[in-house]
Order: sequence, then C-alpha cells, then structure tokens
Amino acid sequence: MSQILKRYDLDKLAVATIASHTALQILRGAKKYGFRTIAIAKNEDIAQFYKQFFFIDEVWTGDFSNFRKTAERLVAENALLIPHGSYVEYVGWRQALEAPVPTLGCRELLRWEADQYKKMALLEEAGIPIPRVYRSPTEVDGPVIVKFFGAKGGRGYFVAKGREELEARLKALGEEYIIQEYLFGVPAYYHYFASPVYSRIEVFGADIRYESNVDGRTFGWAEPTFVVVGNLSLVLRESLLPIIHKYGVQFAKAVERRVGCRLAGPYCLESIIKDDMSIVVFEFSGRIVAGTNIYMGYGSPYSVLYFDKPMDMGERIAHEIREAAKAGKLDQLFT
Ligand code: ATP
Repeated sequence: MSQILKRYDLDKLAVATIASHTALQILRGAKKYGFRTIAIAKNEDIAQFYKQFFFIDEVWTGDFSNFRKTAERLVAENALLIPHGSYVEYVGWRQALEAPVPTLGCRELLRWEADQYKKMALLEEAGIPIPRVYRSPTEVDGPVIVKFFGAKGGRGYFVAKGREELEARLKALGEEYIIQEYLFGVPAYYHYFASPVYSRIEVFGADIRYESNVDGRTFGWAEPTFVVVGNLSLVLRESLLPIIHKYGVQFAKAVERRVGCRLAGPYCLESIIKDDMSIVVFEFSGRIVAGTNIYMGYGSPYSVLYFDKPMDMGERIAHEIREAAKAGKLDQLFT
C-alpha cells in the first residue's frame, strides 16, 4: 500500500467509505477538511438517501461480493478507504484483509477479530481483565453468554443461567461460538484514537448500546437478546478515565507486539463496569464504532481536552489524514 500511496496526488485526496454505519460523520468530517468524498452504497435505494447530503461528492453503488473492482476504482480516484463494521460485514473479513486500496488502521487485526478465542487472547496479552472463557460446557459453574463468530451486532447471542440450560441450548447450534462468563454490571464502550501524528493514544468518548430485548420493556416475559438498535451518550466518572486510558494504551502495545502492526485511527474497548468499579473488557473493535455517532456534528466531550475545540470522530480522522499527508506519514495511517 505504501507504493500506491506514493503515487497519490496529495492535493487531490479523496476519502471514501461504505454508505452505512458511520459514513455520515466520516464524510462530513472529510469534507470539512477539504477532501473529496465518496460513498459506496449497497443498492440504489441507499444511494438515493446519501445523495441528498452536500458533503458527499459522489455516491457509487458497489458489488460487495467482488470488492476488488471497487477497490481498484478507488485507487484510480486517489481515494483512502475508511473501514467500519458494515464494510467488514458486507465484504467479509477476508476480502477486507486483501482489498487493494489504502485502508485506515491495522488491517491484520481483522484476522484476530474473526476468531472469538484469538480476540480474547489479545485482550489477555494486553493485561486487561476479561471474562472467563469456557472451553467446554462441562466447565460452566454460573451464568454465561454464548456468542457467535463475526461481528453481528449481538444478533443471535443468548444467555443461560447455568450448565444444564446451556447444554440443552447448545444442541441446536450449527455455528462456531464462544461461551463466556456473564458479567454483572453496566455496559460501557470506550472510544480511542491512535495518533501516529501526535504519537499518542487519545480517550475520545464513550457510549452505551441500546439493545433489544435487554433494554426493552419486556416485563420479564421475553428472553434477553442483544441486537443493537442504537447508541446512547455516556460520560464517565472522571476517576475512571486514567484506567480507561491505560487499558487503551496497553491494548495498542499488545497489538504491536502480537499482531505486528501499529494501531492508527479509531478503535474501541467494550466493557462491563462492575459494582466494585472494576472494568472487565469482553470485546474490542479495531476500527470506528457506531457509538461515535452520538457526538456527530458537535464533538465528543474529551476531544476538547486534546484540541481545545470539540471534534467528532469523522473530523478527528480527517484532521489526522491532513496532518499525516503534510508530514509525509500517510503510510503510518493506511495499510
Ligand atoms: P460488535 O458488533 O461490536 O462486534 P458483537 O456482535 O461482537 O458486537 P458483543 O459486543 O460481543 O457483540 O456483545 C453484544 C452485547 O452482549 C454487549 O453489548 C453486551 O450487552 C452483552 N455482552 C457481551 N459480552 C458480555 C459478557 N461477558 N457479560 C455480560 N454481557 C455481555
């Protein structure tokens, strides 16, 4: 990718992403910083929605089952691709790993994220507390949550109170899954930004997911399910910020050690905070999470601490690209 980047005209850079997830804030931020912007939609209906916004210069429709062609077209257009959860879901992690277009962040992480066991091993390597992972249902001695491989926004996950219930439900499963200790406490998701330009990890914001049916009005009549329908704003107790920052830094170091690439751009640690205020991280995302949409347009509370002005994550990405391009450091951002 660094060869491709060398051929790019830095005065005519375009920022591109898939028209879904966090595309609006990514492209709005990019436009604000003077980049050309491209949204790639799944179909014509979605394209129509994105076409109404002044900050999107071009809306394409793309064939996600064969993303190579779109990637090549992006390179011809001098474009940098900002990956997000829907991109990985639509094109699949294998295509995303190999797409021949400069892509923000550490791509190799996709391989780790595709495997729930590797994912937890990386968090463990970072020295971050994680839930117990059971290799077999016979080890289970309390409430558990069963998760499938691949980011699905919580779809299909279920909880079981103990071993018997778990064994009965597992019989019907055909997919790969992981059994984790069910953690009691409140969920909290931390947004970070890894900056090669400023050589630092920033704590950027936090959110809570709004999930059906765990957050719904179920009166105990429906079974808990974890399908994400949106995100809610969260500001953390200030006393929690040092440890949250520390976990973010430890994670970045573990990625460098184990995965062999440096984190660049947004990433996220997803946790439960227990009633003793300890934090247990059950998941990470190596790229922008949809929870950052909560401060689109007016900026995250913590961005002010680094820049003395509010910025949303789309603007933060664009700022980094602009500064990296000036400093000849784009190859530290894009892989
Ligand atoms: P993403 O789209 O971020 O990849 P996902 O599909 O991998 O999400 P998770 O974030 O792992 O899903 O989990 C979905 C939800 O399940 C969480 O938001 C949280 O509410 C709940 N959850 C996950 N793991 C645990 C756990 N160990 N204990 C308690 N609740 C959990």
